[in-house]
Amino acid sequence: MKILVVNAGSSSLKYQLIEMDNEEVICKGGVECIGIEGSKISHKVNGKEYVIEKHLANHTDAFNLVMECLTNKEYGSISSPEEISAIGHRVVHSGEAFDKSTYIDDEALKRLESITHLAPLHNPASLACLKSCKSIVDCPNVCVFDTVFHGTMPKKAKLYAIPYEDYEASKIRKYGFHGTSHKFVSQEAIKYLKSKGLNHSSIITCHLGNGSSITAVKDGKCIDTSMGMTPLDGLIMGTRCGCMDPAAVEMLAEFKNMSIKEITQYFNKKCGFLGVSGVSSDFRKLCAAMNEGNERAKLAFDMFVYQIRKYLGSYSVAMEGLNCIVFTGGIGENGPVAREAVCENLEFMGIKIDKDLNNNAPRGEMVDISAKDSKVKILVIPTNEELVIARETEEVVNSLKR
Ligand code: AMP
Repeated sequence: MKILVVNAGSSSLKYQLIEMDNEEVICKGGVECIGIEGSKISHKVNGKEYVIEKHLANHTDAFNLVMECLTNKEYGSISSPEEISAIGHRVVHSGEAFDKSTYIDDEALKRLESITHLAPLHNPASLACLKSCKSIVDCPNVCVFDTVFHGTMPKKAKLYAIPYEDYEASKIRKYGFHGTSHKFVSQEAIKYLKSKGLNHSSIITCHLGNGSSITAVKDGKCIDTSMGMTPLDGLIMGTRCGCMDPAAVEMLAEFKNMSIKEITQYFNKKCGFLGVSGVSSDFRKLCAAMNEGNERAKLAFDMFVYQIRKYLGSYSVAMEGLNCIVFTGGIGENGPVAREAVCENLEFMGIKIDKDLNNNAPRGEMVDISAKDSKVKILVIPTNEELVIARETEEVVNSLKR
């Protein structure tokens, strides 16, 4: 069975065609600048990259071009669209309208449309892409949501302390994001722990990238996570502020003479590493500046590490134990400096990193970087959100046949 995984942003569309028999990526690529100047597709197959620059007015144009690449006589991987068994869509927000990965029929499409306001920056692009796929390829479409893995959080963790009837009417609460990533790495960690004879798991998964979130996973279930109603909450990120006192909004509105919409944009785009350091939202550039003595870059780095460590403490208490920490995402997988700083001087919690293993961890594979006498396993696990989406899509499609 071949599954096409698509991940649509407001002006982008990433895709992977996966052969599920061996879970191999047949080809992949991305469309950039949809609806704006400079649109193009980069299609990668058999180690080669093909770039086509073409004006693409919308997601339908973009998806048509993806299909042209997939079926191209010279570098395509399939001879006709019928070879695609299903399309799996990454959708950021499920609201309370979906509690699992879902086959999208007309009724589900309406439900999806009813929650766009919950993720105005993300869900409309997924919807546009979904509609294009439905009109162009005749196969089942399945939505896999970033929020669903966090659906197991108890109310005491997911509710904000606003009047209960306002929560019921508005559905404003913590949802959490990066769910496919937290699910994938926690499941990999559980397999590893079982191979070491550990049948119960209390895992803290740290997805650290341009967007970052931390999740407490007890025996395979999410019990708490750092992002909130939107991906803005929790840790300091590349350009997002993370946790803020809501009363600051009114003060900022007066001080910067901004509207509420402008402040939300400011919290999403102008804050985080970029805003604190004044250097960059990119962690590598931040570290380079810090190493050259830039004090604000060092401050942003220290805030990041400090906040992650606070989550280690609070989530260990929430789970009443801890036997594994997982690092994933661009920074978590590739940044030994951050991993070492996060784990420093935490022997009292049973956390002890092996500095050599950490510094020399090979990229792209799971590595155990904990010291031999560390009670808590510290793992680096490359995430694979596309594979989770493909697996869930296959499962949903198979359940339709039953
Ligand atoms: P992601 O959003 O998961 O793609 O991660 C992007 C972030 O990972 C950026 O801030 C990058 O600077 C960071 N990153 C990528 N490679 C490295 C590396 N070798 N060391 C530290 N950070 C890295």
